[in-house]
Amino acid sequence: MAAPMSTNTVELGFIEKVDNCRLFSRFFPSKVGGKPAWLELKNLPKHDELICQTCGKPCVFVLQIYAPVPNKDSCFHRSVFVFLCKNTECHKRNNSNSFLVLRSQLSRTNQFYDYEPPNEDEEKPENHPNPEDFETSLCRVCGCLGGKRCSKCHTASYCSREHQTIDWKKGHKMNCGDPGDLGFLFLEFELVTEPENEGDEDQQSDDEKYSKYLESGADEKTQDFKIEELQKMAVKETKEDKTFLAFKKRVDKEPEQVLRHQRGGQPLWVSNDNKPTAEDIPPCSCGSPRQFEFQIMPQLLIHLNVDSVNESIDWGTLLVYTCSNSCDEGPAYHKEFIWKQDVSSHQPDME
Ligand SMILES: [Zn+2]
Ligand SMILES: [Zn+2]
Ligand SMILES: [Zn+2]
Ligand SMILES: [Zn+2]
Repeated sequence: MAAPMSTNTVELGFIEKVDNCRLFSRFFPSKVGGKPAWLELKNLPKHDELICQTCGKPCVFVLQIYAPVPNKDSCFHRSVFVFLCKNTECHKRNNSNSFLVLRSQLSRTNQFYDYEPPNEDEEKPENHPNPEDFETSLCRVCGCLGGKRCSKCHTASYCSREHQTIDWKKGHKMNCGDPGDLGFLFLEFELVTEPENEGDEDQQSDDEKYSKYLESGADEKTQDFKIEELQKMAVKETKEDKTFLAFKKRVDKEPEQVLRHQRGGQPLWVSNDNKPTAEDIPPCSCGSPRQFEFQIMPQLLIHLNVDSVNESIDWGTLLVYTCSNSCDEGPAYHKEFIWKQDVSSHQPDME
């Protein structure tokens, strides 16, 4: 089970290869790719809640994070799910219409899972609760709610005609058994988190370092700083460059990070352009404002392997905003807000 994430530090997310037995719902995983490990198992999001707002095709599961809210009973278990449209034409710069975020939460006493945490070594996969135990059928292709049945075997379910077509093209017509990988899902990984390690020195901005340098004596100057670096710093930088440099510098300390979680914290901007204003982020349907919860980093694109498939699926960072009250209103999978920020087009090449 993923450790509950704290709110006062940034928790970094990293990709790890794992035996996928550990990624069942029962273990409350944080994970990337594969099918969603649904938290609430009875009232899955409806098909029309999971379609791309641009093309109307079903979105594919990208990742989920397990992020309970301390001291809130109804958020003892809490997961946030992210989906995207694989249709290349739907992806536009600084536009998040082809992404979706859903939040689900449960109290410790609930109808799906034991009160006590699972024993990862002893639990048998057959005993794991899943939506099928609650008379909910899943699409064979994407693992989302499957409302349509195969007319031949009356067993296989699909969320949509698109997914039935994928399955039939890959041979379901001949064999109604386990489909295996049908090429629609992203590769599956565990998402492990650890707190970001911030040294005091690293916390200083370039501005602070520069003013410290100016205050220090001549001897210290040559010892502590490389002249070359300082000259670079002194060059009049645009605000844009500074934002991107700060992003790069912070990320370079843990270059493999694919996610940064800090509920109620501040995002790490990749650009000074296209930052959402308060009006851009709609409040939750309960009336509470939404707050920043986590961001997905560009490093994840490498693991999703979308580069080779489709170069237009790209982002500088994806910012997820959730209800500040993490309310219990509305459906079991409550829609939240996502904002895509791309690297500025007038950004100098940093490599
Ligand atoms: Zn689309
Ligand atoms: Zn499907
Ligand atoms: Zn069939
Ligand atoms: Zn709310």
